Amino acid sequence: MAPLTVRQATKSFGSVQVLHGVDVDIEDGEFVVLVGPSGCGKSTLLRLIAGLEDITSGDILIDGKVVSRLHPKDRDIAMVFQSYALYPHMTVAENMGFSLRMRDVGKSEQDRKVREAAGILGLTDLLDRYPRQLSGGQRQRVAMGRAIVRDPKVFLFDEPLSNLDAKLRVQMRAEIRELQKALRTTIVYVTHDQIEAMTMADKIVVMRDGRVEQIGSPLELYDRPANMFVGGFIGSPA
Ligand code: ADP
Ligand code: MG
Repeated sequence: MAPLTVRQATKSFGSVQVLHGVDVDIEDGEFVVLVGPSGCGKSTLLRLIAGLEDITSGDILIDGKVVSRLHPKDRDIAMVFQSYALYPHMTVAENMGFSLRMRDVGKSEQDRKVREAAGILGLTDLLDRYPRQLSGGQRQRVAMGRAIVRDPKVFLFDEPLSNLDAKLRVQMRAEIRELQKALRTTIVYVTHDQIEAMTMADKIVVMRDGRVEQIGSPLELYDRPANMFVGGFIGSPA
C-alpha cells in the first residue's frame, strides 16, 4: 500500500456532491500534481487530505493507518497556503514558529527549527521583518517555512504561486522542486496551470467534475491521453 492513499473519497456539501469516489496512491518522495479546471474539486480533495474538511465517505490512509477521522494536528501533513495567508501582525520568525507553539514545542526547540528552516529557505536575515516588508517571493518562502518547521511526511500546496507574477512563478517552481529534493519529502500540489503540472510533476492526477480522469507521468499523459478531455487539457493531440 502506498504511503498516502485516497480510497473512494466522496465529499458532499449539503445536497451537492463535489467528489465522486476519488482513488489516488501517492508514493514516498513523489511530487504529485492535481490538475483540472476551476471548480473540479482539487482544493476540496487537498483539504480532505489535510483534515480541513470531513470526508463524506471513503478513507484517507497514511502508512496504512486511516487518518480520515483524525484531527489535522494529529496527521503528519502540512499545508502551504498562498502567501497572503501569513499573519500580518507576526514577524517572519513568529509566523514560522506558530504551528510549533500550537503544538506546545518548547521555546528553544522552536527557535532551532525556525532557524534551520530559514537557512534552507534563505530567510535568515529576514526573521524580524513583518510580511508587509517582504517581496512576494519572500512571503511565499515564509509560507513554505511554516510547513517545513514541522518536518511533515507530506506537504500539500494549493495553487501557491497564483498570486505571483510570471517571472517569479517560474523561479519559484524551480525552488519548490529543489526544496523537495533537499528535504526528500512527498508533495501534493494543486494547480489549474497545465505548464506548471507538466514541468513539476512526477505524477499528474487530471480531475474533472469531482472525478479522476487519468493518472500518469507527464510523458504518459502527453503521449497516451485517456480521452479528449485529458488530451485537450494537457495540450497533446488526442
Ligand atoms: P477547485 O479547487 O478545483 O477549483 P473546489 O474544490 O474549490 O474546486 O470546489 C469544487 C466544488 O465544490 C465547487 O463547485 C465549489 O463551489 C464547491 N465547494 C467548495 N467548497 C465548498 C463549501 N465549503 N460549501 C459549498 N460548496 C463548496
Ligand atoms: Mg482550488
